[in-house]
Amino acid sequence: MSTTKVIRCKAAIVWKPGGSFSIEEVEVAPPKAKEVRIKMVATALCGTEMKMLKDKNLQHQHYPIIMGHEGAGIVESVGEGVSTVKAGDKVIALFLPQCGECTSCLNSADNFCIKLKQAETHLMSDGTSRFTCKGKPVYHFGNTSTFSEYTVMDESSVAKIDAAAPLEKVFLVSCGFSTGYGGAINTAKVTPGSTCAVFGLGGVGLSVIMGCKAAGATRIIAVDINKDKFEKAKEVGATECINPQDYEKPIQEVLFDLTGDGVDFSFEVIGNPETVAAALASCRESHGVCVIIGLIIGVQLNISGHLFFSGRSLKGSVYGGWKGRDGASKLVSDYMAKKINLDALITHSLNLDKINEAVELMKTGKWQ
Ligand code: NAD
Ligand code: ZN
Repeated sequence: MSTTKVIRCKAAIVWKPGGSFSIEEVEVAPPKAKEVRIKMVATALCGTEMKMLKDKNLQHQHYPIIMGHEGAGIVESVGEGVSTVKAGDKVIALFLPQCGECTSCLNSADNFCIKLKQAETHLMSDGTSRFTCKGKPVYHFGNTSTFSEYTVMDESSVAKIDAAAPLEKVFLVSCGFSTGYGGAINTAKVTPGSTCAVFGLGGVGLSVIMGCKAAGATRIIAVDINKDKFEKAKEVGATECINPQDYEKPIQEVLFDLTGDGVDFSFEVIGNPETVAAALASCRESHGVCVIIGLIIGVQLNISGHLFFSGRSLKGSVYGGWKGRDGASKLVSDYMAKKINLDALITHSLNLDKINEAVELMKTGKWQ
């Protein structure tokens, strides 16, 4: 049933580019047609927010803003015409919508729903915001804005999940886990017996390792400049861990020394143009596949064309190639069936008002 009630709650607002989070009371307007208002239960910081806070290439003029694009919660109320969820349903918030009608949604090999572009406006589809703070409208982020106790999202960005699912675990299906795991399984299509290299061991890179292992890779080489990440990487399936700073040679040469012919699949899970070039050059010349998962926006890649002559390929991947709503519901079912384990990805659990502490933990690499 639709509601006209405005909800007052806490949210973490960033007031200006490069600013930190400030906990404020906000008003959350009722959902309009085809929109859903959600009580957030669990959310997390992703490397993408960290980049938005510090990387000038990603900064825009849509401030004040409520960020957060990884989360799960319970539907509080729905707007007119919403048919796929109802109040009380457990749901995953998705930065990648699945409208079910656009050419991408209708193509089984594609997940880049046209509604993703709505996120660029940082507003709802009618061009307005559902958040107000101190009398000012506040911008949305990523179709989700999960850093608020309540948020409003388009129905196409909301995935209904198993009513028994523990939200404080399965919220990871909203971004980090699905992106990495699917990057290996769906985008790279890692093959049994293959050798893989994963550059960057944050939550997304660890999920890539899990995907490589599930696909039957026999050698998974984890690469990071922070050696504190190695123990967890081994726990989730890495067979070797290397730190580029321990070698005089470029890391691609080290990987050729270790493997003889290079790796079958490599993954860039950092978001750095130089490591994209190194990951591509680490692949086998004849058929190596390199998948870029890290966010590379506003910068050019400087890659030698020679690397492609022998047959290597370079691919992008968004949300691990899963269709938003179908993928999230399926992965939560897989979690409930114990086919996947998300525990290794959760290092800390803090209240929303400690979000700046989470940022510090993430900067030091202690937070996955
Ligand atoms: P994170 O910051 O937790 O992890 C990055 C890791 O890379 C860290 O462990 C860091 O030590 C390591 N690193 C940094 N520089 C390095 C270097 N030069 N060589 C080797 N290792 C290095 O980030 P995350 O949350 O795991 O996200 C990873 C990337 O994935 C980010 O760029 C994020 O924006 C992107 N992302 C993409 C999608 C998508 O759909 N494509 C979705 C979510 C996140
Ligand atoms: Zn669509």
